[in-house]
Amino acid sequence: MCATCPVCESTNHYYLRRVFVSPDVPEAFHLLDRSFFLACRRCGTVFMYPPRVEAPQVSQDQTSSSYYRQMAAERDVAEEVVKAHVHHIQEPKYKTCLKFLQAHVDPAAHTRWLDIGSSGVPTAFPDFQFTTIETDPVAVRIGQNLYKKERIFCSTYEDFQSAQPFDGVLFHHSLYCMANPAAMLRKTFELLRPHGLLLVAISDFFMETTSTQDDGQFLRIEDVLRGDVMRVYFNRHSLEYLCNRLGFRLLRQDVMQHVRSNGEPWVSSRYMLFTRVENHADIQPDPDGLSASMRLCTSLTARLQNDLERITSESLAAFNRPDCYWVGDRELLFELSRFSPLDRITWAVDWDLPELSGTEIQGLHFGPMAEIPDEPDTVVIVASFLRAQQIEAVLRARLKQATFWLPTRRSALPGMRLANWGLSKALKFQQAP
Ligand SMILES: [Zn+2]
Repeated sequence: MCATCPVCESTNHYYLRRVFVSPDVPEAFHLLDRSFFLACRRCGTVFMYPPRVEAPQVSQDQTSSSYYRQMAAERDVAEEVVKAHVHHIQEPKYKTCLKFLQAHVDPAAHTRWLDIGSSGVPTAFPDFQFTTIETDPVAVRIGQNLYKKERIFCSTYEDFQSAQPFDGVLFHHSLYCMANPAAMLRKTFELLRPHGLLLVAISDFFMETTSTQDDGQFLRIEDVLRGDVMRVYFNRHSLEYLCNRLGFRLLRQDVMQHVRSNGEPWVSSRYMLFTRVENHADIQPDPDGLSASMRLCTSLTARLQNDLERITSESLAAFNRPDCYWVGDRELLFELSRFSPLDRITWAVDWDLPELSGTEIQGLHFGPMAEIPDEPDTVVIVASFLRAQQIEAVLRARLKQATFWLPTRRSALPGMRLANWGLSKALKFQQAP
């Protein structure tokens, strides 16, 4: 199968990186055997290849690629994990969606909606009548117990049929999970009545929203390219271009701030509202849309690179001090010292090769792990993405008075560099409690 850009259908790309599973569950970090990310040279869209196409029949066995299943390492805890996800992630996000609908859509004119990839939250919306479909049977069962059971279905979008057309179709953080978004939008065109509405909500880096962990910062490539469940990374220009191509015109777009169930401000999403255009000749995709998309992707990734470098430099400068002992992965330590020399620290320790003690390599002085003094003003910087907690636990057994600083992110990729995209992450530390 040819690697075709899901937005512009170009076949000319550059390679970004391999795909790994679930950045949100550090224990589940592993690379997918075959899949990798490509970036289109024409419109900049990043997408996963090969696209892992869902099996047309929903079955209990087809859960390995399920969004929900990846949130739970073990099957028997899946139900609790999905329930928590529904209450603490989906409900507050759908509240924002309802706010958007109430502000911009007349429920009398657009009453009947279909939501794709949903456990059923919007079936409880007032005024709008939602039907929802989702491929994961566990999520569907939980939704049926919580919301309006009779309008919550377990189905793929390909298989879903409706005798009556819908007034609106919603992709709430789901369009980017679809292997073939163009086919999904064609299906949407068919399911909508004339002048029906299409609402797409996306929360990610390329949509210029904050979508990452609780600190809201993009500190590593895994905060941008989020692993197995997100397959196509749209931006506002590329999504508009694709929708134009398939017969939808953009009515309005807003970046909306989500609010947590406890009332605190949270991540944001871009909501893009389109209308079905009845005569395709009335809507020609603007070829400038593709170059605008490319320019936007280029400037966003350049800014990301600058941020990652600046943050890393700041961390190195902050802990390049005589009271600091850097302990961790050799490759990372060398990479960092190439970035900016750690020439004022007392010594560094290679976690896997303590025999390096007494050596100087690339300006980095290695010293003995066992002689790091257990004193209140000793500062230990753990330079490891994957093993930070383990290293801290072992060192703490002896260094009871020292202060520990650990990277704010764990990461599937141990090093800091990435082919074709420069730095892949920033090193930023937080003090261990
Ligand atoms: Zn493209």
